[in-house]
Amino acid sequence: MDHDDLRHWSKVAADWAHDYHKTLRDRPVRAPLVPGAIGKQLPMAPPEDPALPEVIFADFARIVPPGMTHWQHPRFFAYFPANASPASMLAEQLVNAMASNALIWQTSPAAAEIEQVMIDWLRQALGLPEGFTGTIHDSATTATLSAILTMREQALDYAGLRVGLAGQPSLRVYASAQTHSSVDKAVRIAGIGQDNLVKVATDAANAMDPAALDAAIAADRAAGLLPVGVILCAGGTSIGAFDRIAECIAVAKARGLPVHVDAAWAGSAMICPEFRPLWAGIEGAESIVFNPHKWLGAQFDCSVQFLRDPGPQVRTLGLRPTYLETAGREETVNFNEWTVPLGRRFRALKLWFTLRAYGLAGLRSRIRNHVAWALEARDAIAALPGLVIVTELSLALFTFACASDAETEALLTRINDDGRLYLTQTRHQGRYLIRVQIGQFDCTREDVMMIPNTIAELMG
Ligand code: PLP
Repeated sequence: MDHDDLRHWSKVAADWAHDYHKTLRDRPVRAPLVPGAIGKQLPMAPPEDPALPEVIFADFARIVPPGMTHWQHPRFFAYFPANASPASMLAEQLVNAMASNALIWQTSPAAAEIEQVMIDWLRQALGLPEGFTGTIHDSATTATLSAILTMREQALDYAGLRVGLAGQPSLRVYASAQTHSSVDKAVRIAGIGQDNLVKVATDAANAMDPAALDAAIAADRAAGLLPVGVILCAGGTSIGAFDRIAECIAVAKARGLPVHVDAAWAGSAMICPEFRPLWAGIEGAESIVFNPHKWLGAQFDCSVQFLRDPGPQVRTLGLRPTYLETAGREETVNFNEWTVPLGRRFRALKLWFTLRAYGLAGLRSRIRNHVAWALEARDAIAALPGLVIVTELSLALFTFACASDAETEALLTRINDDGRLYLTQTRHQGRYLIRVQIGQFDCTREDVMMIPNTIAELMG
């Protein structure tokens, strides 16, 4: 296959993509398959001889789409969305065509400079004060890992980078049980250890209790342990919990600890000023992560980390051997020094295309619709006999359940086997719940109202 073939087959692929998106509503949202069903359709050994593009394409069309769960389906209400706006998909096509590696400024100047501008556009869009800068990671997990590694090194005066962690006191990180498992993963990878992630008590609203945070830090210090930082949650994955950001940051500041806020999902909603009270005090954080690839429409992967001062993170993660120097241009920003991997994709282009193609006004109206429709769906589910709303709307996320866990689980299986909708589960305060989140880029009010309507039909 050469570039002339690519030209032809890209056009075929574009037509295929258009048909795929236009017919998504006719497909089951979740792949109706048993494990192994796709793998066994492929030969066990790699091919010795080349195949014609038409054969490869025909196999793709036959095997792959039926084996996919359709994340862009307008009735995908599971997990959180991974939206791909048409504008961001176009940008990704162009990025694919150039296939550059934006590891340092010199290797892709446009990528580095558009990334800087996009970070500042998003800072303004979210209402963050001037002075925050940042970078784009692949995922919130990597951004949180970067923040935790940085906290660790600040607490150790950067000794961990040189001599490792042996002989150091136990390092302690504080987060509530509502924070995402990426925080657990980060403390494991960072050598801090799961047992040193202190799950601070929450209040009746599932928000971290600032007094409990203060007491936990004080007790650890008294016991000779070394607190390194606090992770706050602005829109938790399970039920959309928000910590009391301003009060917890005040505690952290008083105790001399940096704060990283995980707003992976809810951060996108902060383009709407009316939702910003949910994270009031955010300007006091050292680091904030949000995923434009979730609710904003910038195709996966695109996770933005804002930093009040990039210095400590660059000191923690940055290395500049001779082969990564740019002679005469040492002042340029080399974003690999802000992140874990060296190689990096040109992710800023899809932000540029998305923000321009829809404008903040268009993106805000989508998010506002999702929140309003989620409330309508919540009310309709509350009115169904045998179902109760368990956690109330957090932006566009709520949970409900039947009388027992077994009934709830059975109902969820029926819903997802039916195929018209896709919902997922969580466990909160010991109870098995069905989560509903509204956030699909192309969903309509009718798609959302199919949630209560389909459930009523299946239960009836
Ligand atoms: N934080 C929150 C609140 C999330 O909901 C998620 C994923 O859904 C993550 C972190 C991890 O995100 P990523 O897949 O970008 O690592």
